[in-house]
Amino acid sequence: MEVNGYRSDGVGASVAMVNAWTGEQGALPPDVESARDVLRPFSFLVADLDESALEPLLAWAAELRAFFVITDLERAVAHVNDLLARVEMRPRLVDHGRGLHLHHAPSGVPFVQRIRINTAMGVANLVADYGVGRSGVCAAADCDRVFADTSRNGRKRYCSDACANRANVAAHRARRRAATPAR
Ligand SMILES: [Zn+2]
Repeated sequence: MEVNGYRSDGVGASVAMVNAWTGEQGALPPDVESARDVLRPFSFLVADLDESALEPLLAWAAELRAFFVITDLERAVAHVNDLLARVEMRPRLVDHGRGLHLHHAPSGVPFVQRIRINTAMGVANLVADYGVGRSGVCAAADCDRVFADTSRNGRKRYCSDACANRANVAAHRARRRAATPAR
């Protein structure tokens, strides 16, 4: 998988959508500007995102979360295939200043459909390349954010450095408590 290439945009966007709009720390339905902010880093034409996209984007984010919580490969494949079956794709090679790459969406489709196609393809490629070993829910005790790991060694278990540090501190304290003799 090319980590910085086009294919990773769908994975990154999936993670960002799930963490922004679902789960305990997820926000209520976003307004247009905040929704654009979530998707802007992933090379989407966010100017096309309007009010009508908000509800469908939230619904799709919930479907994507359902993928990230799956730890069983067969179930992950079934879920991703279900997502893929619900989008209409027409792959074609394009070059608009980023070098040749594949676009999967038919030209001119609505914004939400482009998001669905790119995120479905993103998680599909992730599973094709790594199975379920590179995606999941943060291992920190009080965090339900998700992550995807496309790094070389792929050891990620937390959504962020902040959660990894917190978990390390907690584990260290627990070890010290365990080592203190009871009186
Ligand atoms: Zn976390």
